[in-house]
Amino acid sequence: QLDPSTLKAFENAAAGHDGVLSDPSGELIIKPCTGTEVEFYQQTLQDYPDFAELMPAFMGTLQLGAPAQAADITAVNEFVENNQAQKDKQLHGSKIATESAIVLENLEHGFSKPNVLDLKLGARLYADGTAPEKAERLDKVASETTTGSLNFRIAGMKVWNGQSFDTYDKFYGRKFDADNVKDGFATFFSGLITGLRKDEAAELLETIEAEVAKARNALERLESRMYSASILIVYEGDTAALENLMGGVPKTPRLQEKAPTLGEVQQSEDEEEAEDEDEPPMAYQVKMIDFAHATWTPGQGKDENVITGLKNIEKQMDMLITRVTG
Ligand code: ADP
Ligand code: MN
Repeated sequence: QLDPSTLKAFENAAAGHDGVLSDPSGELIIKPCTGTEVEFYQQTLQDYPDFAELMPAFMGTLQLGAPAQAADITAVNEFVENNQAQKDKQLHGSKIATESAIVLENLEHGFSKPNVLDLKLGARLYADGTAPEKAERLDKVASETTTGSLNFRIAGMKVWNGQSFDTYDKFYGRKFDADNVKDGFATFFSGLITGLRKDEAAELLETIEAEVAKARNALERLESRMYSASILIVYEGDTAALENLMGGVPKTPRLQEKAPTLGEVQQSEDEEEAEDEDEPPMAYQVKMIDFAHATWTPGQGKDENVITGLKNIEKQMDMLITRVTG
């Protein structure tokens, strides 16, 4: 059902490589990826369905370079070119060829102005068997950033300023240390903090923190190694829309003068189903992403590298909530 000729560049990534595409409706993203990531999504769906809920919905894969896909269309050509550029970049590191793309739920869909924060997880960012030069490079960045001290760093973010998006690239997040990374969180959540009543702001921050804790709790019970995965936090950057989602317009039940007939009950059930499919606007999304170096590892115990990072993100959220309510 996905017509490759209609794909366009996804301009709204918070971090990562170029070459991500989106479908015309904006519901899906198409991300060039390694075989490891495809396998991880497929295996998770099959064997770890609870964890799959913490990831973007996985719609399938798209093969690159296959004759059927090699239509003479700009988007596809760009796709293949970007993918080649990515391959070239990766030659110094992993040698995994990237021939496929994954089709995922676009976590920014349904928002008016999605603010996006990509938090890269772990103090160690490479799997066993990584080329020594790449491992050394990643360890050096770790030692100079909160990656080393807190097992996470801000990989990138995008914040609506009322007129346009302010973008913060990978170098922004590398400047923080364990003491001042809270300023990065304050900057990301500034729209929410200034735009909402104190109690509403605290409630939404607590809800987002609870989602992070949910991911951590899942990983405490599982055996995995996820190197360089991220937790992606999205919230509504359009203040008016966010206010509506939080406090405004409680869903008042319609008054009924007489008991509904069977037909009317059936009809309202149908309406509810239709509403479910329509996906109401959302205030936030929190999901784990980027499984290029992730595997399930039964017998190896839990992934402390990632769990510690998630705990420290929860601590940052706690501190921010105290600042907001205090
Ligand atoms: P990589 O870092 O290897 O390029 P990622 O999976 O981290 O790949 O994706 C890069 C960026 O694309 C992320 O920082 C995020 O902003 C965006 N992104 C990735 N997956 C999704 C998704 N399912 N929905 C929305 N945005 C996404
Ligand atoms: Mn990434």
